[in-house]
Amino acid sequence: MAQDLTRPLAPGERYRCDGCGNVTRFDVVTTARTRRYLHFDLGGTPAVDEEEVLTATVEAVTCRWCSREDALRIEPAPVTEHPRGSG
Ligand SMILES: [Zn+2]
Repeated sequence: MAQDLTRPLAPGERYRCDGCGNVTRFDVVTTARTRRYLHFDLGGTPAVDEEEVLTATVEAVTCRWCSREDALRIEPAPVTEHPRGSG
């Protein structure tokens, strides 16, 4: 089953490496056009207050554990009601 790995992950999806089973650590090279709301302080130092990704293309995904690029696929992520909850 061929998958289009050049599109960014949608919410509720994640990568899986079939080589080693890793689902959490990947190097992802992405080309993106973004619009940023830059908020400068009086000294000219910018901070990004908002960022909107207009278009994005994933160029490469590499497993951090086994360094494979050819064993990766996209799968539905497990449902987590409170991804950053303290429970
Ligand atoms: Zn791997």
